[in-house]
Amino acid sequence: MGNERVKRYRMPGSACTMCKMWDGPELRPAVDQEGTSPLEVDGLCVVHRARATEGACILCGRGRPWVLMRPGSRVGVCKPCYVEQEGKEQAEDLERYWKALSQCAGFWPASPAILPEFCLGDATSGQDDVS
Ligand SMILES: [Zn+2]
Ligand SMILES: [Zn+2]
Repeated sequence: MGNERVKRYRMPGSACTMCKMWDGPELRPAVDQEGTSPLEVDGLCVVHRARATEGACILCGRGRPWVLMRPGSRVGVCKPCYVEQEGKEQAEDLERYWKALSQCAGFWPASPAILPEFCLGDATSGQDDVS
């Protein structure tokens, strides 16, 4: 006992991942300076961490996250902030991509090879044998 290996989830003394990613006015240190917390939010600075735990946009703290940093993440930014950072075209590209994805939602064929056909086809073209 007492001799357990501490698992590291990030480099000790890391800077906030979101300050780095979004080029904030200053680069603040992550809350978890030991690098031993498995929580994603502990890799953020106090400001960004507080916003993320409230479920708000990490950049402005007001809007709701529109895009998340990864699936299931609590860390995200609202659309106006994203547009401000990345540009309108980027945001529209992202929306087009999501739209294409959602057309396949709930419809995942066993073989990935046939997936593109499902995505591109008209959603209403399926046979309706509900009778
Ligand atoms: Zn930060
Ligand atoms: Zn925002």
